[in-house]
Amino acid sequence: MVLSKRVNVLSESMTIAISTLARDLKASGKDVLSFSAGEPDFDTPQKIKDAAIEALNKGITKYTAVEGTVECRKAVANKLKRENGLDYTPSDIVINVGAKHSLFNLFQAVIEEGDEVIIPAPYWVTYPELVLYSGGKPVFIETSDASSFKMTAKQLSDAITPKTKMVVITSPSNPTGAVYTKSELEEIAEVLKGTNIIVASDEMYEKLLYDGSTFTATASISKDMYDRTVTINGLSKSVAMTGWRFGYLASGNKELINAINKLQSQSTSNINSITQYAAITALNGDVDTEIESMRVEFEKRRNLACDLLNKIDGLSVVKPSGAFYLFVNIKKVETDSMKFCKELLEEVGVAVVPGLGFGMDGYFRLSFATDEKTIIDGIGRIEKFVKSRI
Ligand code: PMP
Ligand code: GLU
Repeated sequence: MVLSKRVNVLSESMTIAISTLARDLKASGKDVLSFSAGEPDFDTPQKIKDAAIEALNKGITKYTAVEGTVECRKAVANKLKRENGLDYTPSDIVINVGAKHSLFNLFQAVIEEGDEVIIPAPYWVTYPELVLYSGGKPVFIETSDASSFKMTAKQLSDAITPKTKMVVITSPSNPTGAVYTKSELEEIAEVLKGTNIIVASDEMYEKLLYDGSTFTATASISKDMYDRTVTINGLSKSVAMTGWRFGYLASGNKELINAINKLQSQSTSNINSITQYAAITALNGDVDTEIESMRVEFEKRRNLACDLLNKIDGLSVVKPSGAFYLFVNIKKVETDSMKFCKELLEEVGVAVVPGLGFGMDGYFRLSFATDEKTIIDGIGRIEKFVKSRI
């Protein structure tokens, strides 16, 4: 079969590919410890499950409005106001099949052939693929351990050309956990002033913050930033709801929201009605205690994993302020991250994701969204593997 050029341009998500491989190896009886999935190991809070059961019993099993029920969009608008100081009305919001779908819709709606999209590297695997799929050109800005993996305003300014259509900001970041401060975002805002550049602000990990660091929503910086920013968020990571598929985008631009609604009306239609109903419980703050206890647990695991990894001769890691990933520097041992990760899996049964998948060789990503025993055992195996190399 001759496939479309459009689909041939796509690569498979490396994070999903490695997680699937680790799962298959485990199922075939291999002793594999997996740190590859960007997925909390916690169960969804009971109150959310109860709300889903209530939805079923109430017969909330029919199509809803394409963009999501008014009640659900109201809950998103209230959340964005209460927690992020953002003024959106329900008609500024579209509920999507996870934030990945929000990003897909956004890129499809605004990127034209040849448009440049600035993406700080290392980046989450999906962004460049979505840019390519929409005919655009990803333009990468390299960051490093030395800048705590954050793009500076100067780097952004240097990367802008007349073709720049969009810049992607992910804070806290996947794969580095870097969190932009308010003043860093203000500097970025200053660079964007007077341009037509759209900001895609991926705020998926906003609740997973450590050492008392605070989150600033990109659109809250100024009126100018509010107007150019599309806020993207969801419940997968902070509320342990990856399988429910709930994401959303918000923008004050009516034309954009109408275009995305049109696209969604011809593709997925509404996301499932039960998830929408149950999501309101999370958005209203009814499981904030559960969210906070997961965060506390993640912080403990981060401290443990960082301490253990930094003790290994040849490896180093910047302690991240957010999310649940460590982006580990392996350059003293091996610069080819694919080779390192393949051999690590084959020799000691540890699955981590090569930095190359995130646009930066010489690193691997380890997700610490797993229990302490697995972290201790897994990093013990990594130590053994590294010792055999140097
Ligand atoms: N953005 C980032 C930065 C992510 O890591 C993920 C993880 N899958 C997503 C968006 C999408 O999440 P989901 O589709 O589960 O809402
Ligand atoms: N975002 C998660 C990760 O980075 C889930 C996998 C994916 O959607 O790519 O591992």
